Amino acid sequence: MRGIMNESTKKLLETDRKHLWYPFTQMKDWLEDEPVIIESGDGFYLVDTEGRRYIDGVSSLWCNVHGHRVKEIDDAVKGQLGKIAHSTMLGLGQEKAIELAGRLAEISPEGLERVFYSDSGATSVEIAIKMAYQYWRNQGDTKRTKFIALGDAYHGDTIGSVSVGGIGLFHGIFRSLLFETYYVDSPFVYRYEGTEDECRAHGLEQMEALLKNNEGQIAGIVVEPLVQGAAGILVHPEGFLKGVEELARKYGVLLIVDEVATGFGKTGRMFACEKEDVRPDFMCMAKGISGGYLPLAATVTTEKVFEAFLGEPDEHKTFYHGHTYTGNALGCAAAIASLDLFEKNDVLASLDAKIAKMEEWAVKIRELPFVGDARHVGLFGGIELVRDKESKEEFDYEQMVARKLILSMRDKGLMVRNLGNVVVLMPPVGMSVELLDEMMSIIYDSIRDELPGIVESA
Ligand SMILES: *Cc1c(COP(=O)(O)O)cnc(C)c1O
Repeated sequence: MRGIMNESTKKLLETDRKHLWYPFTQMKDWLEDEPVIIESGDGFYLVDTEGRRYIDGVSSLWCNVHGHRVKEIDDAVKGQLGKIAHSTMLGLGQEKAIELAGRLAEISPEGLERVFYSDSGATSVEIAIKMAYQYWRNQGDTKRTKFIALGDAYHGDTIGSVSVGGIGLFHGIFRSLLFETYYVDSPFVYRYEGTEDECRAHGLEQMEALLKNNEGQIAGIVVEPLVQGAAGILVHPEGFLKGVEELARKYGVLLIVDEVATGFGKTGRMFACEKEDVRPDFMCMAKGISGGYLPLAATVTTEKVFEAFLGEPDEHKTFYHGHTYTGNALGCAAAIASLDLFEKNDVLASLDAKIAKMEEWAVKIRELPFVGDARHVGLFGGIELVRDKESKEEFDYEQMVARKLILSMRDKGLMVRNLGNVVVLMPPVGMSVELLDEMMSIIYDSIRDELPGIVESA
């Protein structure tokens, strides 16, 4: 247990238990637990109300980039506060939103020129889906109404994004509220019974069959590039994304790439698409876009898509979608400062050494008992725990093995999370090699020293 609590922590806990409802959380467990309450951040550390420090090993859920309380971003937000925090983009331009749009177009894959803002990953995908659907209607094609997505996909929690999602545990309950989507098996190399090449071929063949059998009815394909995060860091075969792009072109459907998790350096490049030289019709950005400071998202698309929405009032081609805080000035100011820091700190060039460090540890971790796989794309990683390394037999969900393991890491000063039996590794890309090394050594030690006991008592 975590020891004495100061009075203000006790008070906060009381209010918490009375009034809060947490995301993706069984509240019965929460109420019985003694949650850590974060009070401040310091570089790559989180500090709780008891003064305890933890390495932020999941980038505050995959969004932090350069650390917490980064002077340059703090100053940018403060500077913007001195001007205006927010003004609407309905009928009015916004200085920072315009500036950022230019910057995003500059760093996006070739052809992506138009930026539509919103405030979360889910809305950025929702917008791409609605745009893709309306793109066809605006040209008089009312038959292209379906999307193809990947099994175990995660694109956020609004109904539209859930409709192209594929995680049974999260999405199954809502099935009757959702629009119909076609699915291709997730091309997850570790659990595919065959080689990486066969895994890629299988996924692409399935996708091509869907495109062929539903010719003229598919509006677009939606994918997470290279790796599916929320499903448990499912790493795809190399070349799968490129293959999807080729199929989208061959069958004349739109390609939506959800870079919400993978964007802003996580895979070793600014965007995962770059690794396979893919130029989608839509790219969705959120999480890291504002350096992890403020809720901001963008759906970036091509001039071709944009032009399909131009027309006279009686043609009804307008994109009727928007959110009150679309293009929020504070968020955009933080995002610009974050992009400046990518340049100033040469973040992308620094990634190779960090990725090599992660691989160095992954090699060692793979040797440990109960570790089925330690996989990563860039700094986007996961360690899958299994009962049996040979047969890859899974632990039962109820045993909460990974959950207990990450709690033991917390006691050692590292904050990470698990997704089912997978311990997620998502260090902020700005983290130093030395701190990354420390983080990985805590993980290694916990698996080696604590996991056998956890398994035994589970
Ligand atoms: C987190 C995530 C989302 C949802 O983003 P929110 O900001 O939580 O709505 C969408 N797609 C992917 C790939 C994600 O990882």
